[in-house]
Amino acid sequence: MITGGDEKDTEIDEVIRFDGVSKRYGRRDSPAVRDLTMSVRRGELVALVGPSGCGKSTILRMVNRLVEPTAGRIVVDGRDTAHVDAVTLRRGIGYVIQAGGLLPHRTIRRNVATVPALLGWDDEVTRRRVDELLHLVGLDPWAYGDRYPAQLSGGQQQRVGVARALAADPPVLLMDEPFGAVDPVVRDRLQTEFRRIQTDLRKTVLFVTHDLDEAVRIADRIAVFSTGGVLEQFADPETLLSAPASDFVVEFIGSDRGLRRLAVTPIRADDLERPVVLAPGDGAAYAATALELDGRSWGLVVESDRVLGWVPRGRLTEAARSGGRGVRVGDHVREFTASIDAHETMRTAFSTLLAQESRFLPVLDGGSYVGVLTPDVVHTALRRGTAAG
Ligand code: ADP
Repeated sequence: MITGGDEKDTEIDEVIRFDGVSKRYGRRDSPAVRDLTMSVRRGELVALVGPSGCGKSTILRMVNRLVEPTAGRIVVDGRDTAHVDAVTLRRGIGYVIQAGGLLPHRTIRRNVATVPALLGWDDEVTRRRVDELLHLVGLDPWAYGDRYPAQLSGGQQQRVGVARALAADPPVLLMDEPFGAVDPVVRDRLQTEFRRIQTDLRKTVLFVTHDLDEAVRIADRIAVFSTGGVLEQFADPETLLSAPASDFVVEFIGSDRGLRRLAVTPIRADDLERPVVLAPGDGAAYAATALELDGRSWGLVVESDRVLGWVPRGRLTEAARSGGRGVRVGDHVREFTASIDAHETMRTAFSTLLAQESRFLPVLDGGSYVGVLTPDVVHTALRRGTAAG
């Protein structure tokens, strides 16, 4: 009995499963998708990436049966999609396409209410749900609800597209280059917002993009395809970037591999620099000597876990010489112009560092001192290889 239950759980945990799926359009020699076997777990966001024409959209469209597979089976939530009425299947799967795919002659509210209307929901329930979703995607329903799509920016239309796909709370979302039509700044914001929404909702998402950086930013796992719909690698972003499985993947990742890895490399306390820590009340002469003995040209000034700033050794030496015994470290502190949150990725940390004149910045966890980030720290973290440990 218990064993049976476990088996069922394992099966249920895979929300989308491709079993030897192939697709050939018409009489073409080369298939668009070749013998794909892959499964997506509940609550997971899987990005499908690869060059144009490698079958990404076809894979997505086979899930909601806009395209029928030539061979193989696709199982969604335990059911073979071939045996589910296509219209019923589509109502249970959110679908987001480029530019939102909104109906131009319907208001924003009516666009979002498309599936609830098809499902015959009560008007009041629908209205509440629509307003709740517009809030969720960052649009004020009172300001935007009665407008038409053309009266919204591209980014706003895209948000409405996401709201519409979520309307009937489907467990599965299919997203086909959803943020492809907006400019990079807006795309960046949409990605961040979508990631936030996904953290709360934990939908099972298949997300098509040709943009590897987008995939690295938002996906739990990434499936890389080559032309002919061949799955080259299916792995989490850090593994993909640090251990590409084939020459194709190496080439697809490109020479920016190191930079891309920064985006998936966490800050580890062990990697950070540990400079000499001084207290503001320490005497300048003592502090200068401590720095000299440790071969440091500067020291960090910390008081009960709070970083006050840093102090150059030369300044301490000079102050001690001219001011005598009374001179304290606290009189010569230079404040940092920025700090880094310990929960950021190395990419954010490094770019914060690059934006400052300083070659080092303190890393803080909830305001408390953890260590110091320098270019060497970034280098060490990248050289370490995969996420071991
Ligand atoms: P991607 O989304 O990776 O750009 P697609 O799935 O759109 O790739 O296309 C994969 C291959 O299938 C391409 O060679 C494309 O030309 C072909 N294809 C896609 N849709 C059709 C169709 N409706 N009829 C014929 N060929 C198609």
